Amino acid sequence: MNRTTLIALLSFLATVFLIGIPTAAGFYPPLFAGLTETLPLDFIFTWMLRFGILALGFTLGWYLRGESETADAERVSEIEGCIEKDDIAWKGTATLSRGSIVDTDVEYKQICPKCQTPMKKESYEMPSGGRGRKPSYGRSTTTTRRVWECPNSECGHTAKRDSGKHDEAENLFERHIGRIVESSEDEEYSLQSLLDRIGEGEEVTGQRIWEEYAEVVDDEQVSTNCFH
Ligand SMILES: [Zn+2]
Repeated sequence: MNRTTLIALLSFLATVFLIGIPTAAGFYPPLFAGLTETLPLDFIFTWMLRFGILALGFTLGWYLRGESETADAERVSEIEGCIEKDDIAWKGTATLSRGSIVDTDVEYKQICPKCQTPMKKESYEMPSGGRGRKPSYGRSTTTTRRVWECPNSECGHTAKRDSGKHDEAENLFERHIGRIVESSEDEEYSLQSLLDRIGEGEEVTGQRIWEEYAEVVDDEQVSTNCFH
């Protein structure tokens, strides 16, 4: 049972108890006839009723607050995020509808995590040998170094080019989106908690939600380096 349900249940019971007993006594005085001589029942019942009405108001308020919070999280239709792994940043988009994930997609584009420029494929032939390996059959051998290279000449960032990296990024993005959307409201990385962290009056965008998530989880793969 989560905290919200527990508070709602307790205040509901308090309400029933506080309003119910004085009301019963009002309708059927003999119920408490034996006690009227020893206790100031009129006084007690009046105050019980007042607290009961307060508790009722509290219960209603709590319930309505819960409703409006759910509505907040359900109104989010998109979360945009970045996954950074092995020197490459990837941009992912998750589409949501009424608080559930409809689709997640990671763009097939290797983004430079330092300057946000899409990187390009390069291959370099490197002489191999010297390091204990004998050239076979007298020919000099070379190895090909496959890289993703940032075309921005002021940046010069490179990353090793291996297959399967996009799939990895996709899996990681799906995992993090799942954590945000499907975790219980009490977790500090749940969608509702992230929305609560975004300042009042600030525009809620898919990127802002992810920025808050990146701050909360402190995971080096959860990046914001694909955003401009
Ligand atoms: Zn760059």
